[in-house]
Amino acid sequence: MALHVLVLGSAAGGGFPQWNCGCQNCQGVRAGKPGLRARTQDSVAISGDGESWFLLNASPDVLRQVQDNRELWPRNLRDSPILGVVLTNGDLDHVLGLLQLRESQPLALYATERVLAGLADNAALRTLQRFEGHLRQHPLRLDEPCELQGARGEPSGVFVTAAAVRGKPPLHLSGLYAPSIEDNVALRVRTAESGTLVYASAIADAGAAQSLLEGCAALLLDGTFWSEEELPELGVRMGPARSMAHQPVGGSAGSLLALRELRAARRIFTHLNNTNPLLDDASPERREVSAAGWEVATDGLRLRLD
Ligand SMILES: [Zn+2]
Repeated sequence: MALHVLVLGSAAGGGFPQWNCGCQNCQGVRAGKPGLRARTQDSVAISGDGESWFLLNASPDVLRQVQDNRELWPRNLRDSPILGVVLTNGDLDHVLGLLQLRESQPLALYATERVLAGLADNAALRTLQRFEGHLRQHPLRLDEPCELQGARGEPSGVFVTAAAVRGKPPLHLSGLYAPSIEDNVALRVRTAESGTLVYASAIADAGAAQSLLEGCAALLLDGTFWSEEELPELGVRMGPARSMAHQPVGGSAGSLLALRELRAARRIFTHLNNTNPLLDDASPERREVSAAGWEVATDGLRLRLD
């Protein structure tokens, strides 16, 4: 059974364009400038049989993402092909979509104990606990392969392994918990026969995780920022990329250089912030990553890993 991968959203939190941003990229995409494409917030759908799907992260844009991808349309009255969600961290742009997936739909939710704990105190999540078995939570143990199952125990043939990678707790929980290695994970995803997808849309040090990424059939990697000082240089009152636990792509400390020896059949940057020059198909930065054999994800990108 092959692994089917559907990139639902390829932008970082805020999306592209971002509602309150007037940077060159955001103005350009609103004006229809060639080479710029709008993108929704980071999420991926995976399936073994091509019939039932799990989401990797639940973006605030999930309703639009379902609408834009016919694989995710309901087949019958109240019969969604989406069986559940796997979270890589508790960032709001990865969990807010859970609140959109209510309407009494049973779902399975996979995340580390830490990320589940960060959701537990949120009264809004009670909307997904209206009846027994509504939201079936499964703690993901680090480095242990786990077969995804729907809320009613439906097997999927898709196996996910969570690996701790350097990240940070979500902003809205900072100060409430001591940082933990379970705050942020990368996922290795495969069926019994398929090649492996590695999904690491937030990672502070890709070089340190190279053994985790090595030899995969497709890598979806954190491409949030091109440069360390991207936001402060534009005059946005935010810290450098490292303060947000996102390794930039470019420069001497960037992931492009750190992973120059990586063997992976498809290497794809995703989770792009709206300020990133990689969003422009015609930018020199885009030419640089293309020359190094990397792609930049767009919404709707489909992969089939045999
Ligand atoms: Zn912008």
